[in-house]
Amino acid sequence: METLKNITYLLFTLAAAYFAWKAGRRHALRQAARDATPTINLNADYMRGLNFMLSEQPDKALDVFLQMVDVDSETVETHFALGNLYRKRGEIERAIRIHQNLIARPNLNKADKQNALFNLAEDYLKAGLLDRAEALYAQIEKPGDFYDLAQRRIISLDEQQKDWKKAIIVAKAQSKDKQDIQKLSHYHCELADIALRKNDLHAARAHLKEVQSYKKDFLRAQILTTRLATQDGKTNEAVKQMFAVMAQEANLVSELLPGFYTLAQQQEDPEQFDKYLTRILEQHPQHQGVLVAALVRHNLAITKGSRKLIIDYLREGKQFASLHLLLADELNANSEELSEERFAAILDLLKMAGHGKTAYQCTQCGYGSALHQWQCPGCKYWDTARATAQYQ
Ligand SMILES: [Zn+2]
Repeated sequence: METLKNITYLLFTLAAAYFAWKAGRRHALRQAARDATPTINLNADYMRGLNFMLSEQPDKALDVFLQMVDVDSETVETHFALGNLYRKRGEIERAIRIHQNLIARPNLNKADKQNALFNLAEDYLKAGLLDRAEALYAQIEKPGDFYDLAQRRIISLDEQQKDWKKAIIVAKAQSKDKQDIQKLSHYHCELADIALRKNDLHAARAHLKEVQSYKKDFLRAQILTTRLATQDGKTNEAVKQMFAVMAQEANLVSELLPGFYTLAQQQEDPEQFDKYLTRILEQHPQHQGVLVAALVRHNLAITKGSRKLIIDYLREGKQFASLHLLLADELNANSEELSEERFAAILDLLKMAGHGKTAYQCTQCGYGSALHQWQCPGCKYWDTARATAQYQ
């Protein structure tokens, strides 16, 4: 690590020496042309700063750069390089001082000022001062590369703080060609989800309508629509939609299962949930493992059919082989003869076997998680979690 730091310093020093030489030479040439007595003030300042850097005296080096009188379009590069180097090394306070010093210079051109603002915001971001970072990103003006970058940073800060309403405003303010429809749809889905939890069906409907205006067949919105129909008492419609979603994306069977249970509860028939399980399994026989894991995880192994499904799965012994061996006698007997206590013990073992296991994995960065998440906590991409093979 130390060697790497030293190499970084050396590289920076070489780059800075080049800028200093170039700037000093031009300065000297200009002076020479004017009065034939070249000065080396600028060059001497840089050399002094670099000497401090080389002798590992960053505070003194910083002072030299901060007190430098002339900062023009050529020498400003060195300040940016130094600021970025400090930030990369985790010396945030020094990076902040360099960038603040640049911003305070009255004759800095507009492009360099925007660059300095952006970099100061990056320093605050790295220091975890999110509000200050966001306020600075918001000061960066159109048009330009820094504006687009700053807007993207603001959106990801809003995502991080789960401020979906603000994320929508910022994302919508971008020009049409830069708008991210997928992200906008997810923000509205997040708000629809919150509204449904509060049973605010009116707000949920409005957000889902927004998603529809972006993308007609957005899967997450379709799932939320089934919840809306369920909470609205439109049971038949909800059931129809649930099976339509399942046909499209069996990967989410685990997430949909509690919804099926709620729908079954709304109906008179006590065997309704088992009927749903049979129908799901008929349509997706390859997902028996996912169903078992979901029944255990959501504590839904409470009906005759769900219990049979679990025992049948264990009996096959494809997964949980050790459980299969341990319980061979019981599993060979009729599952209905199992006492409540024995079945509860089996469930406990299954819970332990599944505990902490990766049920979903991100297709972008490989982040593993026991729960399904629409935004990957690792890479921040949306809708990249897929059920892992072991549960399929
Ligand atoms: Zn990821």
